[in-house]
Amino acid sequence: MANESVDVVVAGSGNAAMAAAVAAHEAGARVLVLEKAPYSHRGGNSRFSSGATLRHAHNGIQDLKGYVHSLQTLPASEVESYDIPPYPKDVFYRDLMRVTKGLADPDLAALLVNESQPTLRWMVGLGHELELLYEGTVVVGGRRKWPATGLAAHPKDGGAGLIDSWLRIAQQKGIEVRLETRVTRLLVTGRNAVCGVEILGAQGRQEISSKAVVLACGGFEANPQARAAHLGPGWDIARVRGTRYNTGEGLWMALAIGAQPAGHWSSLHCSTIDANAPLMEGKYLQFENRGTNTNRKGWVLGITVNTLGQRYFDEGEHFANYTYAKTGPMMLQQPEGIVYQIYDAKTSNLVSSEYQHQTWVVADTIADLAQKLEIHPQALEKTVREFNAAVVEDRPLDRTICDGRHTEGVWPPKSNWAQKIDTPPYKACAVTAGITFTYGGLKVNPRMQVFDVQESPIPGLYAAGEMTGGFFYHNYPSGSGIPRGFVTGRIAGGNAATDPS
Ligand SMILES: Cc1cc2nc3c(=O)[nH]c(=O)nc-3n(C[C@H](O)[C@H](O)[C@H](O)COP(=O)(O)OP(=O)(O)OC[C@H]3O[C@@H](n4cnc5c(N)ncnc54)[C@H](O)[C@@H]3O)c2cc1C
Repeated sequence: MANESVDVVVAGSGNAAMAAAVAAHEAGARVLVLEKAPYSHRGGNSRFSSGATLRHAHNGIQDLKGYVHSLQTLPASEVESYDIPPYPKDVFYRDLMRVTKGLADPDLAALLVNESQPTLRWMVGLGHELELLYEGTVVVGGRRKWPATGLAAHPKDGGAGLIDSWLRIAQQKGIEVRLETRVTRLLVTGRNAVCGVEILGAQGRQEISSKAVVLACGGFEANPQARAAHLGPGWDIARVRGTRYNTGEGLWMALAIGAQPAGHWSSLHCSTIDANAPLMEGKYLQFENRGTNTNRKGWVLGITVNTLGQRYFDEGEHFANYTYAKTGPMMLQQPEGIVYQIYDAKTSNLVSSEYQHQTWVVADTIADLAQKLEIHPQALEKTVREFNAAVVEDRPLDRTICDGRHTEGVWPPKSNWAQKIDTPPYKACAVTAGITFTYGGLKVNPRMQVFDVQESPIPGLYAAGEMTGGFFYHNYPSGSGIPRGFVTGRIAGGNAATDPS
């Protein structure tokens, strides 16, 4: 016998869950949000997204003015000096397909692309505040230029601001968010329709009946056993950038009632972080620590070598925003899983503010730098000498485009932004792989209904955010996780409220 009854249960309190809860409420449902974590850890990975960059389709500054608050308050003369390239839907779609090697589900990819801006506008209408993203911009001839990366906005105060804003909106609407309450099992009828959840909370084990359930409880990135099982040896001991609470429970409870797995279960978003970062949750759970972000995305400006002093990837393949999510797995394959980014005096001060608390290793010669890094000096000297000889200096460096300033005759190549490492002092920092989220999920259709292993939607079951399989394979275009969350969450919540039970 159920202890409580509502129309829609939402599991999780991240961005996807809160979008689902508010959409279901708007559609007239009585909604209950159940969150496993305590208040200090509310909001899942969404809250950890320090910058919370938002990839979405837009037509440039005229579009952005409609919903980016900070643009509306800037003096017109300032705004007129901004060059923000449009990010049309077809380019967003192509980027998504390119980085996922054509494997992203075309319907889900189109959904993300088409709904990204309308959903952002819906959120702004609810009370969220957006700001212009200045990361990577350069001032040339009095004009501020945005790189052609498709990124132009972020929520005020990043992921923490986004989550606080969602919780404020939920509170205003009278939606209960029950913390420290773990969803442990899905309840089903005789015909396998989902009719509620079992929970473990302050009152112990209880059942809550509902017409529908939206699962938005993240991937299995914080579960070492599941990482070893699905990603392979060594992944159990890798560092985790985000929340400790995304341990895959939502996935397992759906699979237990016959849901169909989908997507790239043996792959994940794993980027480059400070080798001294904590094993879990970076340093930026507390708002005041977010300045000590552990991201180290400067490699396009220099070279990266392993502990043998060898380069092992094309540091200039594309903007870091299109490659960073796959740098982690490559790093873990290197000896000891630690590598070094190397810069010279021309580039070391161009890296982002995220390096401000970095402990640098500094030397006036490459041999001395190698010795300090405990790399064989001749090996690093050879790498730098061969790299420098290969740099084709036929055009000026331009960081706002893929400038084609490349290497010739060295392997691996550097395809863009190639510059000789020749101006002391030389600086190096140790970096390693940092897990963000797993790509494996549940099979969903564009209505966010979860499919069973016989290819039919499971009545009453919806998924959103990281739990949805089919969006990301191998790699990921930066700034797509939060948009996937709010797009899929809004759709899941609306359908959960209105579909017949
Ligand atoms: C450090 C970092 C930086 C990032 N930066 C960006 C960025 O700039 N831009 C971008 O687009 N994306 C970014 N991402 C990715 C993005 O934040 C996430 O993929 C996305 O926000 C996940 O949203 P979600 O709602 O699906 O899951 P989450 O926000 O992780 O929420 C899942 C929630 O479910 C809860 N939960 C888990 N199990 C249960 C259970 N059994 N019962 C109840 N609750 C449960 C968890 O506690 C958690 O609160 C970043 C991620 C990290 C970690």
